[in-house]
Amino acid sequence: MVASLIYDFQLSELTTLLASWDEPGYRAIQLWQGLYQHFWDSPEQFSNLPVPLRRKLAGEFSYTALTPITTLISSDNQTIKTLFKLHDGQAIETVLMRYEKRHTICISTQVGCAMGCVFCATGQMGFKRHLSSGEIVAQVMYYARFLHDEGDVITNVVVMGMGEPFHNYENTMNAIDRLNDSEGYNLGSRRFTISTVGLVPAIRRFTLEKRQINLAISLHAADDLLRSSMLPINKAYPIDEILVACHDYVLSTGRRITFEWALVNGINDTPEQAHLLAVKLKGLLCHVNAIPLNPTKGYSGEATTKFRANAFSQILNGYGIPCTIRLRRGLDIQAGCGQLVSNI
Ligand code: SAH
Ligand code: SF4
Repeated sequence: MVASLIYDFQLSELTTLLASWDEPGYRAIQLWQGLYQHFWDSPEQFSNLPVPLRRKLAGEFSYTALTPITTLISSDNQTIKTLFKLHDGQAIETVLMRYEKRHTICISTQVGCAMGCVFCATGQMGFKRHLSSGEIVAQVMYYARFLHDEGDVITNVVVMGMGEPFHNYENTMNAIDRLNDSEGYNLGSRRFTISTVGLVPAIRRFTLEKRQINLAISLHAADDLLRSSMLPINKAYPIDEILVACHDYVLSTGRRITFEWALVNGINDTPEQAHLLAVKLKGLLCHVNAIPLNPTKGYSGEATTKFRANAFSQILNGYGIPCTIRLRRGLDIQAGCGQLVSNI
């Protein structure tokens, strides 16, 4: 039997367990602080706990969610990508991006993805399984530990790695709640951004929960025919339905939405798409984050040009919609958006 992963548990659950072992009430919080404030990842490191308890915990739990297999560093030293093996032999990738004082980590929520977006390497590998909340948390802890050793901290977490986070809603939110905990890792909600392909029922649920987490929607096309050809899930949740849910989100939370747009040369980087998008987004508190397409094996589309990207952005700006063209990062180590896979 595989031991339970300690990162899968809430503080309240560990408290109940330790109480049932007749441990004093403060032991659970000491364990929690060891995991999330000291980033200890093996039982013998828990110098704040008596040795017999460390042994008992070691018998009950696994502390190893992720085994690093390879780590690649981009030529500009700004991006690091790690391939991790999971307990069942599956694998995921996690990326750390450094930019001046910002250290952003891009985490995965699934092995593969069921959404099948044609331009995305994760989508091209199909869906293997959901990650548990502990496997999601452990990606952050791994890089927190790594940066801690260099005297740095994670400043932002983007849920934009492998998988569709709103298809694995509970585990993703449980993971973020655990990372938020003020007695644990204590990273503020506003430092998280979740990106979704646009699963409308989950956007509505997220809205009702009034979370302070930033929301990004991967739009990529302004008409349903084009969007469905790039993102098959659009047939279930077409653009206008997504945008109604977005209006409700902004109305209810007062928060701005980001729309993501991978610019593919001659496909969705045209002036027609830009004008249509501007009309669709009228009156919505939002901004557009466009990025030249990153190459993937299974898709023949090409990245837009600088000239076409600027023209696209200027059209949106002309309608009063802010649009930034994101720099592509980590391409030499296949760590860009949509390039993550489980190549073990
Ligand atoms: N499943 C979620 C989050 C993971 S993908 C989502 O789709 O939003 C993170 C972002 O990378 C999304 O905006 C996605 O559309 C984008 N992306 C996927 N493949 C890409 C590619 N080849 N080039 C640029 N962006 C890509
Ligand atoms: Fe899944 Fe996002 Fe890739 Fe689409 S872009 S296949 S939703 S990971």
